[in-house]
Amino acid sequence: MKSIVKFTLFSAAVLFAIACTSAPKTDSNYEAFNRYFTDSTLRIDFWHSGNDTSENFAIAKYINDGPWAGRTAHLLDKWELGLYFIKVIDQQSGEVIYSQGYNSVFGEWQTTAEAQKSTQKFMEAFRIPWPKGNVTVQLEKRDANNNLQPIWNFNIDAKSIVAEKRFTDNRAKLTKVMDNGDPKCKADIVIVGDGYTANDTAVFNNDVKTFVDAFFGTEPFLSRKSDFNVWSVFAPSPKEGINLQEADYHPENILGTSFYTFGIERYVLSNNEWTVKDYASVAPYDFLVILMNTNKYGGGGIFNLYITAAAHSPHNQYVMVHEMGHHIAGLADEYYTSDVAYAPANTKVEPWEFNVTALLNPDSLKWADLVAPGTPIPTPWQKDEYEKGNTSVLHDSTLVGKVGAYEGGNYLSKGMYRPEVNCIMFSKNKRFCKVCTRGINRVIDLYVN
Ligand SMILES: [Zn+2]
Repeated sequence: MKSIVKFTLFSAAVLFAIACTSAPKTDSNYEAFNRYFTDSTLRIDFWHSGNDTSENFAIAKYINDGPWAGRTAHLLDKWELGLYFIKVIDQQSGEVIYSQGYNSVFGEWQTTAEAQKSTQKFMEAFRIPWPKGNVTVQLEKRDANNNLQPIWNFNIDAKSIVAEKRFTDNRAKLTKVMDNGDPKCKADIVIVGDGYTANDTAVFNNDVKTFVDAFFGTEPFLSRKSDFNVWSVFAPSPKEGINLQEADYHPENILGTSFYTFGIERYVLSNNEWTVKDYASVAPYDFLVILMNTNKYGGGGIFNLYITAAAHSPHNQYVMVHEMGHHIAGLADEYYTSDVAYAPANTKVEPWEFNVTALLNPDSLKWADLVAPGTPIPTPWQKDEYEKGNTSVLHDSTLVGKVGAYEGGNYLSKGMYRPEVNCIMFSKNKRFCKVCTRGINRVIDLYVN
């Protein structure tokens, strides 16, 4: 049973300053963090509701979600990725003191056919460093031109935040899988399991190893291994496995993940984001991995929310790494020949993602600096052959590793372009393209001091 605790500025504040011993410019890097924030995490749970044309927000509760493990030296999310973007604004100075882009389940659902027929509500939650002074939280969303526009804001009076205590469950077992240092100075991954019973701890631990081997077996994560910590949280589900049909939805798996999200069999999300984040918060984390005890192919990955991956399906390691591309760096799917539930992008508007472009102006390609001189833009490839099912064209030695602008990507065959002929975000390829690799590195850099 959760209890309500009223935190004052003084009881919530931690009286020592944050600094990473490994940081080259220790004091200046953390000056802003120490001025504006305490060492705790403020989680704001809210309902995100609406339909295809409207959306509404209602705060459900505040939670003191444990010590802050997020960004401390780079408080502003300078890449401005994501469909949604949170800004924490200091009321005294008017300055933005923390920002973070993300995607949400509602944001995906809003573009499905179902949203044209019904209004629904979804659980959602932000986690921000605990403010010392009064702040305004402003949520922004992309408009039709992909510019961020304010859609919701609310004030937080730092002296009178009424917050629940951090979630606890005595059955949840925390394991430090890989320790490279202070979570405030590293990118922290927490791995939680769904559909594992109390008898399945060895299965879960083995699946954690499968994830770690796949993730750190792939560049750029391999080269950045010392920038990460990995934690696992095991909590038993009453019944083994993962639910299949939302129509017959009686979740017995503890995190509520289910296949057939938005009617797509292989797409797996949870309908209970707050519970997912409750279990995740047993560990300090920036990125959240849900491994599912099933051999049925499927998964999902949402920028700054979580990934889901079937731990025992034939392509399990590929799914894990591909979904981490979405989750960490907001990478777009580069494929365009598989069914998806949501409406494709508008080819008249430049996508915000690092790795796809509408190529509205071929002279200002956003990854132009990675293109070798003389490479034609758009870049010819055997698109017709590929669409007939000949995947060998993806291994054309004259094209592999050559950055250009290849038509077909982001669920669109025409008018949308990807950086290389092949990439983990395009097919069951072994490597990220150079543009995706750079995007991932840019984001990891924000978390590492
Ligand atoms: Zn790519």
